[in-house]
Amino acid sequence: MTPNMLRNIPPVNELLESKPLQVLAESVSRNVVVAGVRSFLDNLRGEVTQVAAEGSLPSPAELGQRIADWIVQQQQPRLRDTINATGVLLHTGLGRAPLAQAALDELVTIGSGYSSLEIDLESGFRSQRHLAVQHLLTDLTGAESALVVNNNAGATVLTLAALAAGKEVIVSRGELVEIGGSYRLPDVMSVSGAILREVGTTNKTRIDDYAAAIGEETAALMRVHTSNYEIVGFTEKPSIEELVSLGRKHNRPVIDDIGSGAMVDFARYGISGEPVAGDSVRAGAEVVLFSGDKLLGGPQCGIIVGRRLLLERICKHPLMRALRVGKMTLAALAATLRLYQDQAVAERAVPLLALLSTPLENLHNRAVRMAPQIAATPVVAAAEPLETDTFLGGGSVPAQRIATWCVALRPRGISVDELARRLRSTSPPVVGRVHKDRLLLDLRTVFPGQDSEMIAAVEQLSD
Ligand SMILES: *Cc1c(COP(=O)(O)O)cnc(C)c1O
Repeated sequence: MTPNMLRNIPPVNELLESKPLQVLAESVSRNVVVAGVRSFLDNLRGEVTQVAAEGSLPSPAELGQRIADWIVQQQQPRLRDTINATGVLLHTGLGRAPLAQAALDELVTIGSGYSSLEIDLESGFRSQRHLAVQHLLTDLTGAESALVVNNNAGATVLTLAALAAGKEVIVSRGELVEIGGSYRLPDVMSVSGAILREVGTTNKTRIDDYAAAIGEETAALMRVHTSNYEIVGFTEKPSIEELVSLGRKHNRPVIDDIGSGAMVDFARYGISGEPVAGDSVRAGAEVVLFSGDKLLGGPQCGIIVGRRLLLERICKHPLMRALRVGKMTLAALAATLRLYQDQAVAERAVPLLALLSTPLENLHNRAVRMAPQIAATPVVAAAEPLETDTFLGGGSVPAQRIATWCVALRPRGISVDELARRLRSTSPPVVGRVHKDRLLLDLRTVFPGQDSEMIAAVEQLSD
């Protein structure tokens, strides 16, 4: 940029007089607009090459419009409600489980005022926050006691730190999981101060392998659900009952990280092998750990259920305070758990279960209805219903397929990746799944009320 052009940049005050920025100041605020103009002009001064290529500066009116557009874009929240057309029901990138209406209502009630978070209303004395969900969790799982922390990773670190710091925890080599990059069991174990004692092999671990490793240094036996992979073929591992009976013989607790935390048996939805929290408790596991925002369909949290004495030790550990949940989490979790008191109610009211149990016929009808409307938009060359399958996601077994229907789009004049990118910038953004040269909009994860919004989003795109 020549010094001349720098001098030609209009002063802030002059730009603020321009129509688009005046209009914007009314809808956002004058402070936001002034700060936006300043930082836009700073960027402009920095962008020597771009301006030099343009040769001259735009007029103040045009510059005003550009700045206004830029401020509007900057004001968009980074966290936006998004239509999930990926078909992946527990997409960690898209916030895992959507909350039930009952949970949302409770968030408003509890969030908008004061609440009995840590006070016993009868006695007036100080109380503990997890009592908000303890009874619900013990009733639903059959456990003696329950605690809630920030997430299942936190639940695992806390449990190991409280029960096994400086001592050994025996885990099968087939269960040293990595869940989504930053969660690796050996690392979690070392952060907690517990010592990982690996036994067996990747594909075969016998009860005798655990038995041979038990000694003075052993604090617990741990089983970890291999949520996101399966070891198939020549395999063997003991049942939870066998582990529990070995642990009892040596007076050592079994910690069972079941991962996704199903409250009901997902076999009814065609998904087998997902451990049910209550089954693990009934089998005798002393401490059972799971996430709140996976198959339970609630808010992000980590749930610990099990023996009262052990949970008291866990609760007293200083990390408990560091990992504690807020009233919003407890409110949403309590409301979600209440729905599970009647399985039929849960299936209707917990969005994850409702999406999962939507009949294929229903998805087919919607795909057939939407395809021609989407095909009629300028950026789409062809759109047709497509029967395929998808999976749960969120660290669950990818091998378990769920039948679904999509609308499959072929782009016109742009690449399929470009079409996917543009749909992610609509209002609301739509996130689909690219498969070869087509963009799939998978209806398994789209709420029926979002169909017309999704069509409108494609219609917003011009060629
Ligand atoms: C998902 C998962 C975790 C981590 O849970 P977050 O709630 O995401 O922290 C830990 N263990 C297993 C087996 C899991 O499936």
